[in-house]
Amino acid sequence: MDIPRSWRLRNQRYLLEGNACTSCDKKHFPPVLVCSECKSRDLRPFTFSGKGKLYSYSTVYQAPGQFEAFVPYIVALVDLEEGPRITTQLTDISPDEVRIGMPVEKVIRKISEEGERGLILYGYKFRPPVD
Ligand SMILES: [Zn+2]
Repeated sequence: MDIPRSWRLRNQRYLLEGNACTSCDKKHFPPVLVCSECKSRDLRPFTFSGKGKLYSYSTVYQAPGQFEAFVPYIVALVDLEEGPRITTQLTDISPDEVRIGMPVEKVIRKISEEGERGLILYGYKFRPPVD
């Protein structure tokens, strides 16, 4: 990912910012231009709480270059508290501790390293809640 694109996506990746429909209040992540529920184009920025539940997951043992350092890692589908289902990575948990339906929360972690140019990207991942 190049730097301008990385900059444009910063609120999505750090804050989990999507949008909400002003007409029907459906929440979207990533943000959309048209509401999938009522087709309204009147949407406002919405920052998700970062809390959700694990819907499904898969453990990745072989990954393309920029993700190699993270193998094995867990790719997950998480249902956010506010509705949308997102694809993310689980962190701070070993594959044999993962359970479908477990509560998870957002944390900011290193996402990838692009070796040659040295661009390191940070963004959200999910982990079991710590309290
Ligand atoms: Zn709507």
